[in-house]
Amino acid sequence: MSSLEKATPNKQLIADLTPKRRRIYQLLCDADKPLSAYELLSIYNDCVNKSIHAMSVYRILGYLKSVNLIVHLHSVNKYIAATDAFTTQTHVLMYLTCQHCCDVQRIHLANPSAMGIEYQIAQLGYQLFNHSIEVPVLCNHCSAGANYSSIQEN
Ligand SMILES: [Zn+2]
Repeated sequence: MSSLEKATPNKQLIADLTPKRRRIYQLLCDADKPLSAYELLSIYNDCVNKSIHAMSVYRILGYLKSVNLIVHLHSVNKYIAATDAFTTQTHVLMYLTCQHCCDVQRIHLANPSAMGIEYQIAQLGYQLFNHSIEVPVLCNHCSAGANYSSIQEN
C-alpha cells in the first residue's frame, strides 16, 4: 500500500486529483513534518523536469485544503496531510504545533470531550467549520534549550 492510500480512506478523491495536485499531496504524505509552501515548491521542483511557480503551489494547497486532504497550521504557516480527516465526524483533532521547531503532535479527542467542545461552540450560536483545532506549544526539547523570550526574537 502506498503512503497515499494509507493516508485517507477517500480513494476516489485522490484518484480524481490532477497530477500536480496529486504530487503535492504525495509530498505532504511522505513528509515527516509539516512543510511550508516554499519548502514544497523546492522539493517539487527538485524532482520534476518541468518546474512550477509558487502561485501554482498556493492554488494547489488551497484546493487540497478545501477538500480536507490537508490542514493549514496557521501558527507556523505550514501544511500537513490530514490523515484521518474523514473519520473524525464525531471527533476533534487537536494539533499541537511547537512554535520553535515546528514539530507537530496530534491529539484525538473522542466523545465526550469532542461533544463538549461542540456543545460550547453551539451555545454561542456557532458550529465547527472543520474538526481540527490548532494549539501553539513548545515541545519539551525546545523548552529545555531556550526560554520563551529568546524564541520570540528569532
Ligand atoms: Zn520544538
